Amino acid sequence: MTFDFDLFVIGGGSGGVRAARIAAGEHGARVAIAEESRMGGTCVIRGCVPKKLMIFASQAEAAAAEARGYGWKEATAGQFNWDAFKTRLDSELDRLEGAYTSGLVGADVTIIRQRARLVDSHTVELADGQRLTAKHILIAVGGRPQLPGIPGEELGMISDDLFLMDRVPGRILVVGGGFIACEFATILAGLGAKTTLSYRGDAVLRGFDDEMRGHVTQQLRNIGVDVQLGSMPSALAKAGEEIAVTFADGQVQRYDAVMWATGRQPYTKGLGLEEVGVKLGRKGQIVVDEWSQTSVPSIFAVGDVTDRVNLTPVAIREGHSFADTVFGARPRKVDHTLVASAVYTRPHELATIGLTEEEAAARGPADVFVSSFRPMRSLFAGSEARAVMKLIVDATTDKVLGCHIFGPEAGEMIQMVAIPIGMGATKADFDNAMAVHPTLAEELVTMRKPTRRIGDSTAAQEVQAVTA
Ligand code: NDP
Repeated sequence: MTFDFDLFVIGGGSGGVRAARIAAGEHGARVAIAEESRMGGTCVIRGCVPKKLMIFASQAEAAAAEARGYGWKEATAGQFNWDAFKTRLDSELDRLEGAYTSGLVGADVTIIRQRARLVDSHTVELADGQRLTAKHILIAVGGRPQLPGIPGEELGMISDDLFLMDRVPGRILVVGGGFIACEFATILAGLGAKTTLSYRGDAVLRGFDDEMRGHVTQQLRNIGVDVQLGSMPSALAKAGEEIAVTFADGQVQRYDAVMWATGRQPYTKGLGLEEVGVKLGRKGQIVVDEWSQTSVPSIFAVGDVTDRVNLTPVAIREGHSFADTVFGARPRKVDHTLVASAVYTRPHELATIGLTEEEAAARGPADVFVSSFRPMRSLFAGSEARAVMKLIVDATTDKVLGCHIFGPEAGEMIQMVAIPIGMGATKADFDNAMAVHPTLAEELVTMRKPTRRIGDSTAAQEVQAVTA
């Protein structure tokens, strides 16, 4: 059977674009890619990139305060002009979208600016009714924000809307306690919005190292976010220009805007997946094997739609590996263990790789090395903010199992730490590295004595006896 294309990619985000470009540009496949919105997907257009630029924008007042601490007596950030920022942001996103598009054009990929859905295991139908066939189909449609399912929820914004607002709201409620809630609460507070964060748990960032979660929660409060824990809106209603939010405990508060940051879900609805026999999981995610192959052999899926590790670099690696495996005769699997990540809060980010202290304790004996200190740069300017670094080390093998950094530019540091940890480095290897002085990162190679032993009941009892 002859097909119109060797590969048809549905979704022009990080994973889909990389797969299309490698399959066509490096392996000579005939490739088409369909995208219903802007090329670049969530990360580039309405996620990581604009979010990080907003983080930078929101730090001007803090930078001015630091400058004053260094003797620049009159330093102030001045007046933030959303329109000016938005104009620059829009043109930067246009530039990036152009770069993604020209990369595809350069690789001879056929770009289709329409929604596509599956008709059978080798056929897609476009929004205009045209049908196209392909030997392989790759689904890379990502995820979409999920709302909590309460009355009036349509009055709230999602993170996509934050980049489109015409002004910064006066008072905003951010609901959720994950990556997006913490980062946007930081941004909004930094831009001058009176920001409340409502989270149903007892510390933000569930799943991260517990000690570090406490530091992020406290930092949000320190930068002026009203963090309400054990809190959950139960209904929203319009109240003139405002939104009246009723909470589960019966309280009613008014805000100018509400933002849902209550998680994301795979964007599989209406794609025709089940009709074609592609198996979906409980959350609607596409179930794939280690080669990103679905239950239908000609159909593959990468990125957030598979709900494995929902991060851009992971989607890119999955897309690249898929293209090398299927079109390059270079079979490559993606290792989803030991993926580093960073939450871009400010002034300190939280960055992490490997096991949390809680996970390590459940696994067996481990030594925990913790260093908590006031970085010289902010301390000199009068800040009390503390950075915290933690290494978790297998007590038997000396292997570093996890690293957690709460500090300025922690994301930059964890990227480098990910290399030795990925290679199986021991604590002795860390100790052998000469410190670079004076830096924050030198703490990672100068922590000599364990702070505590975990995962070993005898040792835990000894520590308790000593501290009692
Ligand atoms: P997360 O899954 O990180 O967090 C969702 C939050 O919403 C949790 O605090 C969760 O609470 C809460 N929640 C979920 N459902 C409800 C509900 N019905 N009512 C109230 N609260 C609810 O999702 P995000 O949306 O923050 O981020 C999505 C994904 O995007 C992340 O998992 C991450 O992979 C990626 N991302 C990565 C970033 C980065 O790398 N810097 C930045 C932004 C996003 P609970 O904890 O109790 O379940």
